[in-house]
Amino acid sequence: MRLVSFDNGRIGVVHEGHVFDVSDVAGVVPGTWPPVGMVRAIAQWETLRPALLDAVRSGTGLALSEVRLEAPVQWPNKVIAFPANYHAHIDEMKGVGTGVISSFKASGQGFFLKANSSLSGPADAIVLPPLAGREIHHECELGIIIGKRGRGVSHADSRSYVFGFTCLLDMVVRGKEERVMRKSYDTFCPTGPWITTADEIADFDNIEMRLRVNGEERQSASTRNLIVNIPDMIAMSSAVMTLEPGDIIASGTPAGVGPVEDGDVIEIEIDGVGSMRLPVRRGTVGDHAVWDNEKVGLAV
Ligand code: MN
Repeated sequence: MRLVSFDNGRIGVVHEGHVFDVSDVAGVVPGTWPPVGMVRAIAQWETLRPALLDAVRSGTGLALSEVRLEAPVQWPNKVIAFPANYHAHIDEMKGVGTGVISSFKASGQGFFLKANSSLSGPADAIVLPPLAGREIHHECELGIIIGKRGRGVSHADSRSYVFGFTCLLDMVVRGKEERVMRKSYDTFCPTGPWITTADEIADFDNIEMRLRVNGEERQSASTRNLIVNIPDMIAMSSAVMTLEPGDIIASGTPAGVGPVEDGDVIEIEIDGVGSMRLPVRRGTVGDHAVWDNEKVGLAV
């Protein structure tokens, strides 16, 4: 099943190019704050699923083009992200004089968090802060949506914690400042266009993805090449913190990261999951003296 958030907090099921509004069935009141409708729907999934299927069978859909899609999960408990999770990406970061060494990889380094407020949706532009002399890079990633609460989840049990998948971009200002600051500008975590539920993905270790900038392919990868694979990501993160329904895990980027500029268009495509086409523009807000110390810097 494909689930969307749309038109100011409504929840929908996408079927044959149409969006079926299931907000009422899911008990979601559109427009309320905080926008936790999707988180609640995921938490109640086992009981809700049959009712949603009924709603699609008996309802009338809106054309996808008639609605404004939003970040599928707008208010998760957390966004977990894995750095240095493909060998080829680690090699390219070493190659640009970043001081990154081969021992820095997700299997030994662990994960970080991106601010939830950096989430944006498939209809939103990526807004670059006006930081002189800084590169802002795209990172093409698979987003894993957690389905149920868990702590200390074993590899063997991990699959049952995966609710679904979404396309995710981990945007980042290159430099040596704290990673969370460099990766948490508003719109630095586009997700969407929907959540594809895990039952539609046969093999978690064989998910192919690619990213294009202005039509030119920059990144291409498969989850089979992850250093920390999906069960490991769930085991490692849940060793530290309780996973909650709706939590998002950004699985790390493959080789081919690079800078984007005002006017670029980024396309991300994940086979069996979905695709998004996102315009990039330069905003006016976001500079601060904290960025002045290192005008040109490249690091993870
Ligand atoms: Mn990343």
